[in-house]
Order: sequence, then structure tokens, then C-alpha cells
Amino acid sequence: MGTYDPNNIFARILRGELPCRKLFEDDHVLAFHDIHPQAPVHVLVIPKGAYISLDDFGARASDIEIAALFRAVAAIARDLGLDAPGYRFMANTGADAHQEVPHFHVHLLGGRKLGPMLSRKAGE
Ligand code: 5GP
Repeated sequence: MGTYDPNNIFARILRGELPCRKLFEDDHVLAFHDIHPQAPVHVLVIPKGAYISLDDFGARASDIEIAALFRAVAAIARDLGLDAPGYRFMANTGADAHQEVPHFHVHLLGGRKLGPMLSRKAGE
């Protein structure tokens, strides 16, 4: 899994060294708009703890941190009016999924019809 890089972009946002368009914050979670949105709504939801990926978060985070993240995503989606039309919630994990930032984050995407989850068939 490697070691957590304390200078990754999201760690710097958490420390206030880099700006973000904040949507939500509590003791365990920060949510902000993605800098390169891929849908009318593209929000990143991150734990405040130093976790590299979902693998790391699932293994080491407390039940409170895990619950806080899921509850925050659902509440943000509801507040943005996405619960009725629907939205996508996803986490890229590791190299095959093209995870770019090594601080665990989930993407909340919505505001338009998002189409199929992946553009190619399994195995391609
Ligand atoms: P990943 O590919 O790791 O799942 O997604 C990383 C996401 O972080 C990308 O969607 C990218 O646009 C976003 N991102 C990268 N740097 C920044 C930044 O400095 N600020 C914000 N708000 N988003 C960023």
C-alpha cells in the first residue's frame, strides 16, 4: 500500500495551504467541488484522516469515520437535490482505476444523465 504522502494535494487543502470551494465540513469529513468537473455537479468528499485509498480507509479507519463519510455523501447529495434524479458515487482505488491523488476521496457526480458506468465492455 505504501506510506501516506503528507504533501499530497488534498492533505494541503485540509491544512488550508491550498484553497478549495468548500461545500461541507464536520469533525471527520471535508467536501469541496472538483477543480475539473466532469458533470454539472462534481463534488469530492474526503476524510480528514490520513488514508491513502479505500483499501487503507476500510482497513484502518474507525467506524465513526466510515459512517461520517457515508452520511456526509448522502446528505450533500440530498442538499443538492440529487436524491430524486439520481447521482453516482465512486472511488478510484490504485493504478488500474487511475487514482491520481493519494488521499482517499469519493466522487459525487450528478446534474445530468451520466450514462453507463464504463464506456467499454468487460475484458477490453
Ligand atoms: P482521482 O483520479 O484520484 O480519483 O481523482 C482526483 C480528482 O481530484 C480529479 O477529479 C481532479 O480533477 C481533482 N483535483 C486534482 N487537484 C485538485 C485540486 O487542487 N483541487 C480540487 N478541488 N480538485 C482537484
